[in-house]
Order: sequence, then C-alpha cells, then structure tokens
Amino acid sequence: MDKQDTVLIGAETLENLVRDIFVANGCDAAEGWRISHHLLGANLAGHDSHGVARVPRYVEWQSAGHVLAGQNCDVVMDGGAFALLDGKWGFGQTVAPEATAFGIARAKQHGVAVVALKNAGHIGRTGAYAEQALAEGLISIHFVNVAGSVLVAPFGGTERRFSTAPIAIGVPTNPPVVLDFATSLVAEGKVLVASNGGKKLPKDALIEPDGQLSGDPHTLYGEYDRVGPRSVDKGQGAIRAFGEHKGSGLAFMCELLAGAFTGGGTSGPITARGRIANGMLSIYISPSHFGTEAEFIKTAEDYVAWVKSCRPAEEGGEVLAPGETEARRRAKLLAEGVPLQRDTWDSIVATARKLGVTVPN
Ligand code: NAD
Repeated sequence: MDKQDTVLIGAETLENLVRDIFVANGCDAAEGWRISHHLLGANLAGHDSHGVARVPRYVEWQSAGHVLAGQNCDVVMDGGAFALLDGKWGFGQTVAPEATAFGIARAKQHGVAVVALKNAGHIGRTGAYAEQALAEGLISIHFVNVAGSVLVAPFGGTERRFSTAPIAIGVPTNPPVVLDFATSLVAEGKVLVASNGGKKLPKDALIEPDGQLSGDPHTLYGEYDRVGPRSVDKGQGAIRAFGEHKGSGLAFMCELLAGAFTGGGTSGPITARGRIANGMLSIYISPSHFGTEAEFIKTAEDYVAWVKSCRPAEEGGEVLAPGETEARRRAKLLAEGVPLQRDTWDSIVATARKLGVTVPN
C-alpha cells in the first residue's frame, strides 16, 4: 500500500472484494463477478472514472431498486440481422455483454448486425463491448446515451441537455484499435474521481449557470462530504460537451440514436428522477463476410504503423493509436496492483462493512 493519498491493491483482491459486496447486496455469484470484473477492467484500462469508484453508487441504486439483479435481455423485435432488446433495468454488466453476444452471433450469421438495447443499467466502460466483438474478429460501433441523466451543456449553452453519451469503435487489427470516449469534455466519473481527491479536472471542463468556466467538482455536485456518495442534483452547473460544435453534435446524435431510436429515452426532460439507464445502438461488421479481410487487415495495420511513425510534437513524445494507453496500463497494473484514491478506497470499505463483507487487510 501507499503514498499518502493513494492505496495500492492487488487486482485479484479488489475483484473479489467488489464481487462479495454485490453478492451481499443480492446478486448471484456470477453476476457479482461480472460487475467486479468489468469495474476492475476499467481501472486496469486507466479509466478509474468507470472503475470500482462506482461501487457505492451501484449499491445505492440496487438497494433503491433502480437497477435489478438477475435480469436478462428480452428480445422485443427480432429481424435476423437487426433486433431490439430490452435490458429491463438489469445490471449493465449483465445485459450489455448479453446484447453484444447477440450482435456478434447475428453478424457471424449475416455479415452485419444492428442491435438496439434499451433500459440497461449503467454499462460502464463502453470499450469493453467493442473488445468483446474484437475477440471474435468483428468491427463494431456503439452509440450510447444515458436516459434520465442530463449533465452536459450543448455548444453555445449553459444548461444541462445531454448525457455524457459515449461512443466506442473497435477495429480488429493486431493489436486492435479501440476508440472509446464520452462526448462530454470529461466523463462524469472523472468529476467523481476529482471530487475524491483524484486527478484534477481541466479548468474549462465544467460551466456555471452564468457561463463561467470551472474545473471545480462542486460546480456539478454542490456541497458534499469527503467520503460518501455525490449527487449531481445538488450542483447548479454542467459538464461541457467536447470539441465545440462538433463534439456537441456527436452527443446530440448519441441521444437521438441510442436514446430516441432504441426507445430507452433521451437524457431529458427527466421523467423518472434518480433512475438512469443506458441505451446502446450497436453495429457489428464481420470482415470475413466481405471477402476482403486479409487485405483490409494488412492495409489497416500498415496505416496504423504509418500514423504512429509521425514525428512527435514534443521531444520524447509519441503518437499513439486509440486503445494503446489502455493496453499498456492494463499490463502494468496487473503486475503492480491497482492504485486507488484513498477516498475511493474508504468509500468501498464503508460500503463493504455496511453489508457485513470482510475487508482484506
Ligand atoms: P478519454 O478522454 O480518456 O479518451 C479515451 C480514448 O482516447 C481512448 O480510445 C484512448 O485510447 C484514447 N487516447 C487516450 N490518450 C490518447 C493518446 N495520447 N493518443 C491517442 N489516443 C488516446 O475517455 P473519457 O471520455 O474520459 O471516457 C472514459 C470512459 O467512460 C470510457 O470508457 C467511456 O465509455 C465511459 N463512459 C461511459 C458512460 C456510460 O454511461 N456508461 C458515459 C460516459 C463515459
């Protein structure tokens, strides 16, 4: 363990503890493991915002009945190469991999598949689903929104209108290229991490109601205790969309495709306050069905190498392909342990103790 404000925990120890917490809160062992494996995977990828820092909030949502254990997707409409699935407010770490497996199977059958998933509990790191498709050699594109979670101001505005609406795209080169980001300037979880004493936010990540830019988590959460849940309902400000009018436009499209089209609903106006659900519109493409797989992979890999050969802007710098930082960090943390902000660790420990779960020393 530890620099003063950081705790270093072995990956397996952390995964087991998080699994035990969800089992104690009513999940079966398999679902508890899926949740812990996914959250730990986000930490290993360097996205602490979507990692185990989410545990107290997930537990709170589960206890309030906002997210349900033991759900599987219902197939609402099945058109063969396209389908609409209902996650029925089940844990995202159960219903999203299930919807992805459905899309993979259909793309292997038809060459392509489009799968709309609605009413999924928080699905976490979207890149995980692109990686699931990559493991089967498929290209995939995922548009995601968060129904009922309005946090992001559109370009030119100060009021919350979008969710943090992430996008992920995976291309099956070796190593794979995985683009995965929120369309907000920072993911909400990064505000959460900053509020727990973690990495500070850029000074222009948030916006106050009067249009003033801010990097202070209080803009989003209002007043909060050092340890304990944060509420976006208490703050008056918003996160900003990334990339000016272009990123804002992408967020707009995520709401229309993953929210309106799937039927899961857009970020607002809010109807069921406190309960959020992810919608995900996914497109799966099987290169082997197009008869050009070998040529495509060679051209793509040559291109990745050429882009990476670009002269760095800074001395000692490096041009990276999307997905590279995550892969490097994963290898390092699996070997060395997972660093957590002390406040994050304290919150997980407090949640475990409340549920009677033994915390390892
Ligand atoms: P981010 O800003 O860290 O961007 C990550 C992307 O940028 C990755 O594809 C990464 O490989 C690439 N990247 C990073 N550094 C790079 C570099 N130097 N050169 C080239 N590429 C580089 O991500 P974010 O916006 O903070 O999102 C974090 C996570 O939050 C994502 O996994 C996202 O899916 C998730 N998220 C989920 C929800 C939800 O509702 N489930 C909502 C918002 C965000």
